[in-house]
Amino acid sequence: MNIFSRIKKAWYDSIIWEMIDDEFYDSLEESLIMADLGASVAADAVKKLREVVYDQAIQNGEGVKQALRDILEEKLNVGDTSLDLSTKPSVVLVIGVNGVGKTTSIGKLAYRLRTKEKKRVLLCAADTFRAAAGDQLEIWSERAGVELVRSKEGADPGAVLFDSLQAAKARGTDAVIVDTAGRLHNKANLMAELAKLRKIIDRETPDAAKETLLVLDATTGQNGLQQAKVFREIAGLTGIVLTKLDGTAKGGICVAIAQELGVPVKYVGLGEGIDDLQPFNAKEYVNALI
Ligand code: GDP
Repeated sequence: MNIFSRIKKAWYDSIIWEMIDDEFYDSLEESLIMADLGASVAADAVKKLREVVYDQAIQNGEGVKQALRDILEEKLNVGDTSLDLSTKPSVVLVIGVNGVGKTTSIGKLAYRLRTKEKKRVLLCAADTFRAAAGDQLEIWSERAGVELVRSKEGADPGAVLFDSLQAAKARGTDAVIVDTAGRLHNKANLMAELAKLRKIIDRETPDAAKETLLVLDATTGQNGLQQAKVFREIAGLTGIVLTKLDGTAKGGICVAIAQELGVPVKYVGLGEGIDDLQPFNAKEYVNALI
């Protein structure tokens, strides 16, 4: 250690150490775990923060906060957060367990694409397992002012998807958003079904831009990471839609998913209304989290 480093260290130790001590870092780590970032991500963030605070001789609370913001933002920046809808049609497969807000998010996304991006959107009701799923999607298609292709309960999801893609090609649709069943308790069935849907998309629209969005409930906590792992294995993921961020849940699990699986959040759900879906902004999210 050269003389300058020694002076810096002595100065740093004497002034700062009293304020930003082990207790501070421990309680910060605990808070990050409480916000669902997960133990290893929280520990890593705090370790990095210690290094930055030391290296840059940060000596005020705002400086520490900003350093933490930068660290978390960097963890979240793992890929393009916009949807690739560069072909006509593009296909957005939406997956997730029941109750997370899948249908609601599809409705909001369809509305957003139609009104803000002037896209012609078609919803595909490929969750034929529950009659209610198709009915609910139909209500959302009417609210959003977009088209819908559906069949009756128990119909082959692959056939509904096939019809949707044919309709999209014939009508000059910009984006087909596909609702799928979310029965994780039977992983083998789900895997076979999603693999079949993917095959149909690849066969019928080989050159289409494709997105696979996992819808996650911000209140899910650590289980969200497990869901993301399973769905990524089954279907591959290009992004996350994090719902119910309007409640008390911070949804910190998305930091763990970004860090551990490299999948970015693309949209956040901030309520039950049709306008309550926003593109993800890491800076704003981290600000709210901290
Ligand atoms: P699905 O089973 O995954 O299709 O879930 P739904 O779309 O039916 O949503 C389940 C419940 O969550 C419904 O009561 C929705 O209104 C509600 N919901 C969905 N997204 C949000 C959100 O961003 N915020 C809030 N507060 N509620 C939401």
